Amino acid sequence: MNVPAEIVRKPSVCPHDCPSVCALDVEVIGRSRIGRIRGAPDQTYTAGVVCAKVARYSERIHHQDRLTEPLVRVGPKGSGQFAPIGWDEALDRVAEAFLEAERRFGSESVWPYFYAGTMGLVMRDGIERLTHAKRYSRFYGTICVGIAWPGYVAGTGRLIGADPREMEKSDCIVIWGTNAVATQVNVMTHAVRARKERGAKIVAIDIYETETMRQADLALRLRPGTDGALACAVMHVLFRDDLADRDYLARYTDAPAELEAHVRSRDPAWAAAITGLEVAEIEAFAALVGSTKRTFFRLGYGFSRQRNGAVNMHAALSIPAVTGAWAYEGGGAFHSNSGIFNLRKTMIEGLDVRDSRVRRLDQSRVGAVLTGDADALKNGPPVKAMLIQNTNPLAVAPHQEKVRRGFAREDLFVCVHEQFLTDTARYADVVLPATMFLEHDDLYTAGGHQHLQFAPKAIDPPPGCRSNHEVIAALAERLGAEHPGFAMTPREIIDWTLQESGYGDLATLEARRWLDLQPPFRESHFLDGFGFPDGKFRFKPDWTHTPLANDGLKGAWRDMPALPDHWPVIEAVDERRPFKLATSPSHNFLNSTFTQTATSLLRERRPELLINPDDAAGLEIGNGDIVEIGNDRGRTRLHARLFSGATRGVLVSEGIWPPSAFLDGWGINALVGDDSVAPFGGVAFHDATVWARRA
Ligand code: SF4
Repeated sequence: MNVPAEIVRKPSVCPHDCPSVCALDVEVIGRSRIGRIRGAPDQTYTAGVVCAKVARYSERIHHQDRLTEPLVRVGPKGSGQFAPIGWDEALDRVAEAFLEAERRFGSESVWPYFYAGTMGLVMRDGIERLTHAKRYSRFYGTICVGIAWPGYVAGTGRLIGADPREMEKSDCIVIWGTNAVATQVNVMTHAVRARKERGAKIVAIDIYETETMRQADLALRLRPGTDGALACAVMHVLFRDDLADRDYLARYTDAPAELEAHVRSRDPAWAAAITGLEVAEIEAFAALVGSTKRTFFRLGYGFSRQRNGAVNMHAALSIPAVTGAWAYEGGGAFHSNSGIFNLRKTMIEGLDVRDSRVRRLDQSRVGAVLTGDADALKNGPPVKAMLIQNTNPLAVAPHQEKVRRGFAREDLFVCVHEQFLTDTARYADVVLPATMFLEHDDLYTAGGHQHLQFAPKAIDPPPGCRSNHEVIAALAERLGAEHPGFAMTPREIIDWTLQESGYGDLATLEARRWLDLQPPFRESHFLDGFGFPDGKFRFKPDWTHTPLANDGLKGAWRDMPALPDHWPVIEAVDERRPFKLATSPSHNFLNSTFTQTATSLLRERRPELLINPDDAAGLEIGNGDIVEIGNDRGRTRLHARLFSGATRGVLVSEGIWPPSAFLDGWGINALVGDDSVAPFGGVAFHDATVWARRA
């Protein structure tokens, strides 16, 4: 008789591209299987809650379609025709291709490419060590934070903010431009607790009726890319109705008189015409935040994914500087805590061998890079070889036609190290099977909170899977790349990193599970000054000197407004393309991850286009009909879902489905532009205009 294996609970950390970076308790069965995953109850931000897609992670980690052996391409690129090969042969082929590219075109013709499929620092960023040691083209990561972070830092000078757990002590929580119910459930945990325990009001601001909007006490549904207008009108009311904190303004801000004069002409009627909101809604919102000192602005990423996104972020951020909410516990703003950790990442990323003269190629412009755009290539050699870890550009990158054309190049060698045969892996020459987070050790910082966390390996990987670190080290050996990090284990690298950063050693962190690194109240509320030499919040940002690492000014930065404003640089609808398209996150996927798991697929069903019933009637589109949408970049077909929560003139397609899930094989990012957004680059994912018709 078989005796069931004992279930033990092991600690871990969610590795996915989500600000919550939840502390996890994982049921482990034997050496290689897991049961249910729960949130760690004693980690004060996770507070015992995780999203459903990670709770059922056994579906993903034990999925029958996981890659478990190296593959070599035997058919045309993209055909998905592969044959198994051994690890040594696979790694030899990759190394030979890289050395050949380097010999013929120089080291910059190799471009290691990665992103946040895992947020573990060793497994995500170790590829940089290989890049720097070999002087390969460097990677400029812009696709997620490239627009939002400059917008925030332009005002505060630092990428920190009020402790997100302070939401529990707020009287009003403004969830601006993020569908927290779907994308960072823990925001709702703390916000709802504040509502229950102290009667706090929850305000949600978004471009369509999300689940977060439905749970809000006040839901403001505005047109995409008009958040700056709303923010200006709110500030107009605050000055007009004597709700501005003039003492705070005088002490902590750079140009309050100029701002007051500037927003005098930007009243709610002006903003209503731009945003589509009612004047009364704007007045009510302004009165609420103006009369509620403990108002917490939780600023998300969604509303930054516009050509004017950085300006919108900065405009929204300016409101608590007018009300003086920063001075109160439970007040102020939070966007990301990525600026608090200050880890010394030399051993992870090989920063000591980085050559700043080597070109940096923009992740978001991968299509332009691979199709030979001289500007995207910085007038350097073509990219001839790539190693890709933790990202799926053929689904997630903009201007998909260009991206696919680039990856289809016969003279481009691509190795993809992945967990599933993604769209990108299908275009690879060599595919390597990767471990998942429970199968290796890693260290995690967090965007959405303040914990530095260690996640030890919990189970054995399927035979045949190797970690990112193992692959990087094995390639380094074959390529003659030198750095001490290649010879260290992940634990040794983590221990070195912790000690060099002043956070003790790994043994201590492992025993404690996490360190709470939230800066003191006065620092995180900027009560000893904002992050500029004069300590003042910037209503008038100097965009050209935003204190944030970047690769130079991009996009229409010269035209950025001097003060918070509605910057009409977004794509405007016209007769040819009368709809705005937004590519918002779905509830059961995370970017293109979880698009293989059964329950997520069951719940999301198929790619759909949310369309207001009145718009649909005008186009004679019925619920479930096939709709074709397109613009000059591409076109695709998907099913219509009539939804009164969609704003007139705005179409929404939720989730990054694989292109192959669409009727014509083109994903939603076929319609999104890859032009660089001001001031430092990034993608305007929710800023495309399209035509639509019944197919
Ligand atoms: S909420 Fe985010 S961090 Fe937490 S388990 Fe889900 S995906 Fe992971």
